[in-house]
Amino acid sequence: MRSKQIATFYMPEQVDARNGEGLYTRSPNKPALLMQKLQAEGLTPYFDVKAFTPFQQEDFYLAHAQVYVDAFFAGEKPLATTNGLTWSENLVNSVCYTNASLYHAIRYAVQHPEVLTFSPTSGFHHAKPERGAGFCTFSGQVIASVKLYRELGISGAYLDLDHHFGNSIEDSRSFVPGLDKAIPTYANVNLSGTNDSYLVDLYRHLATLKKKILAKEIHYIVWCHGADSHVYDDLGGSVNTEYWLLAAELFYKWVLEVEQELGYHLPVAMSLFGGYRTNSYNSVLSLHTADLVMAANTLMEHSIAYEPVVEVNPYIKKEPFRMAIAAGETIIDYFE
Ligand SMILES: [Zn+2]
Repeated sequence: MRSKQIATFYMPEQVDARNGEGLYTRSPNKPALLMQKLQAEGLTPYFDVKAFTPFQQEDFYLAHAQVYVDAFFAGEKPLATTNGLTWSENLVNSVCYTNASLYHAIRYAVQHPEVLTFSPTSGFHHAKPERGAGFCTFSGQVIASVKLYRELGISGAYLDLDHHFGNSIEDSRSFVPGLDKAIPTYANVNLSGTNDSYLVDLYRHLATLKKKILAKEIHYIVWCHGADSHVYDDLGGSVNTEYWLLAAELFYKWVLEVEQELGYHLPVAMSLFGGYRTNSYNSVLSLHTADLVMAANTLMEHSIAYEPVVEVNPYIKKEPFRMAIAAGETIIDYFE
């Protein structure tokens, strides 16, 4: 039986409070906004918030050119603002915490597989070895997984359901020795398609990962359910609300299925990744909350009632996608 609380690697220092107001720059503020949302929805009893040690400047040399890391820490332009964010000492401090949060969440899941873990973070998957990009400063996934491979000899997979391709892992392969072992080439999963074809793509990748887990080639999974894959996101748009939730349901039920065959708990860590809604940031937070509730209900045997509220985005002129899954049918029935 899984532990009844989600171990959550959150510290107020991981937020850059001064970066929360402008267009698309909410990501540095996202961890705090999400934690406030969980509190407002009365969900804090399900989360066990843990403190952790932040990274130091030297930790980032593992995945980045020293000239870039040093310029970012010193605030030297142009390199210090290649992430597309406003530079501040507070931002420098916050990325030492966000990147460490992901590492500690995964490490804790590996050491306590019966505990589901959560790193309320984003801002990693577009960074490159020599610069930042797309609101991302450092390659948190690369750093976390390569550290864990060097420390424990384990390999992991990322289900990156952010709408945008997670290039940081692929762009780092020739720069970081051991990365192909830490995150094998099939294990940086990004999806394509919309609604049904999107779920079929997820299902196909989960089938591959299940084989690799049973073969002991993959030892942990990181679930990154970016809210910008929702059709009403300012910068995204693959699936409507029903399918966004079906993707989560498919994943968490797959975890149960894998664990049944393994005979023990699969280490699972969760992160946030993207989500951009200038007219309704609450829609982003609401989707992430619904995902966490799905995790608690499916894997931890809770029965929390929570319906996400996703407001229509008047600037997105897409036709709403239609459901192919019949009412009353579950996603598992659909694929069987
Ligand atoms: Zn994105």
